[in-house]
Amino acid sequence: MTERLYYADAFRTRFDARVIERAEDGRRVYLDQSAFYPTSGGQPHDRGTLGGVEVVDVIDEDARVAHLLARPLEGEVAEGVVKGVIDWTRRWDHMQQHTGQHLLSALCADTHGWETQSVHFGPDSSTLDLSTESISPAVLREIERLANAIVCEHRPVSVRFEQAETATGLRKPSDRGGMLRIVEIEGLDRSACGGTHVRATGEIGAIVLRRVERVRKSTRVEFLCGGRAVARARADFETLSAMAQGMSCSIDELSTLVPAQGEQLRALENERRRLLDEVSATRARDAYAGIVPDAAGLRRLVQRRPTGKADESRAFALAFCALPKATFAAVVATPPAILVAASDDSGIDAGRVLKPALAEVGGKGGGNARLAQGTVPDAGALETVLNSFAARPPIA
Ligand SMILES: [Zn+2]
Repeated sequence: MTERLYYADAFRTRFDARVIERAEDGRRVYLDQSAFYPTSGGQPHDRGTLGGVEVVDVIDEDARVAHLLARPLEGEVAEGVVKGVIDWTRRWDHMQQHTGQHLLSALCADTHGWETQSVHFGPDSSTLDLSTESISPAVLREIERLANAIVCEHRPVSVRFEQAETATGLRKPSDRGGMLRIVEIEGLDRSACGGTHVRATGEIGAIVLRRVERVRKSTRVEFLCGGRAVARARADFETLSAMAQGMSCSIDELSTLVPAQGEQLRALENERRRLLDEVSATRARDAYAGIVPDAAGLRRLVQRRPTGKADESRAFALAFCALPKATFAAVVATPPAILVAASDDSGIDAGRVLKPALAEVGGKGGGNARLAQGTVPDAGALETVLNSFAARPPIA
């Protein structure tokens, strides 16, 4: 049986304890008493040191608490009394998040009748799953405002032990019998809980509600308390500042300027495409005029480029093959790729010719009757594919 010192005093960061048992070559240690909080009730375990050795995990084994160490305790220390030191930064952070969760759960139940279905405390943020299918931004802001008002009231948070049979006013009935550890936020909440909490709501610090997402029939709300809320605000500020600097505006102007710039970008892209089509049409007409038709009456054009993407020839290919009885092929040497096109009256189906030709040399790709493209393993294969297209007679 390990006496849990954090039950009585969550602010105790140093303690002496007797080693009761060592397992796993001395890496798993049991003590007569411990201030180390083991992972339970959603709250992550403490870190710190035991006899100067780093504690990497703390496990709740009902009657006992197991301390998992980074390396075995030295022999002499292990038989006697060891000093435990809690990583207070981590513990304090957990206490802020955990007490903030009590406050939020109680507030959501009182103001909207939403039960807390589950809680998750993560390394960066925490979440509450509430029994509602949606929460509007306005309601979320109001809950956040009320939560911070309760923080400012600095209401005492106390721990008392009561018999399960006679304990009244609990937010959630406990399924445990016997002695219950009840955590109370004055005038707001009474919950049976074995976790570590701050002494008054003011110590929770600011509460920020962030992402809301629907999870099955409930709504998951992300929240940050105290130091995490400040750290997140700082990170958000730095991100927004960098964006604002990039756009030569203030942070407050971003929400209107960013969508406006997106809209402008889309308009410019449409204009760019329209101009490209126009230029391609002119170039295609010029090229077409300079080509003598072959025996089948087809004007065939092959363009070669050392590098780039075959797709860059798409606009020209479509413009060229919009003209009567024409075929076009763009061949890129590195990485080896090909794009082919054929006009509607050419009697050639670009996709049907290219696909099997590519497959034969281990290439990939395809397309429709008008335009097709693909990649091949090497430059030699490129010529084979090109020949099967360029030499293709039209279907009579
Ligand atoms: Zn609690």
